[in-house]
Amino acid sequence: MRERWVIGNWKMNGTLPRNAALLDALKASAPTRAKLAVCVPSVYLAQASALLAGSAIAWGAQDVSANADGAYTGQISASMLQEFGAKFAIVGHSERRLFNAESNEDVAKKADAAAMVGIRPVICVGESLAERAEDRAEAVVCAQLAACAEVLAKFPALAILAYEPVWAIGTGKTATPAQAEAMHAFLRRELAKISAAAANVPILYGGSVKPSNAAELFAQPNIDGGLIGGASLVAADFVAIAAA
Ligand code: PEP
Repeated sequence: MRERWVIGNWKMNGTLPRNAALLDALKASAPTRAKLAVCVPSVYLAQASALLAGSAIAWGAQDVSANADGAYTGQISASMLQEFGAKFAIVGHSERRLFNAESNEDVAKKADAAAMVGIRPVICVGESLAERAEDRAEAVVCAQLAACAEVLAKFPALAILAYEPVWAIGTGKTATPAQAEAMHAFLRRELAKISAAAANVPILYGGSVKPSNAAELFAQPNIDGGLIGGASLVAADFVAIAAA
């Protein structure tokens, strides 16, 4: 049985008091079948670590350096994240691929750096609207996945994959359950080519997931939960999505 996760990506949002209220509300919510985690801006890792210690909710970062230490101003290493109890690091989010020019190879190095210290890399893949229109969606995500094949082969029990069509992120446009399932099934077949263990890597869907569409998406056989942006900032919505 594959793991089911609902992971919040706060992006660059939050203040100390708002985070505390959100985390307190999450802690007070009823347990769900899916496991919950929040990926917070790194300056708030200490706060997440303090407020979530002893709870069932895990926390993580939204990026990690590919380097272990040294002259990399502004970067944060996997072992630094580990010091704060981070369980996850999102790598290759489309906003980082776009705004920070991260290549597939950069993403693979980051995923490896995280997994090497036991942090679970949430590897994001997804095509743009133009790529989908040109019928290149599968080829694009396949190349993104192929770059991470070695990490997925080495760390199948740690890795998590997130299919996030770029055209659905923060736009209010969600892939239909059928569109999402088709890509997840394709990704599952590609994972199976890496190894039998990699075939069981959870594949989360991300892109404008809301309480109103979560149940239908998560009912698809190859969708193992969600990576949730905007809706993870509202405790009631995030919990409703997890309950779905
Ligand atoms: C995301 O940022 O990973 C995401 C899926 O965002 P949203 O849910 O807001 O589309």
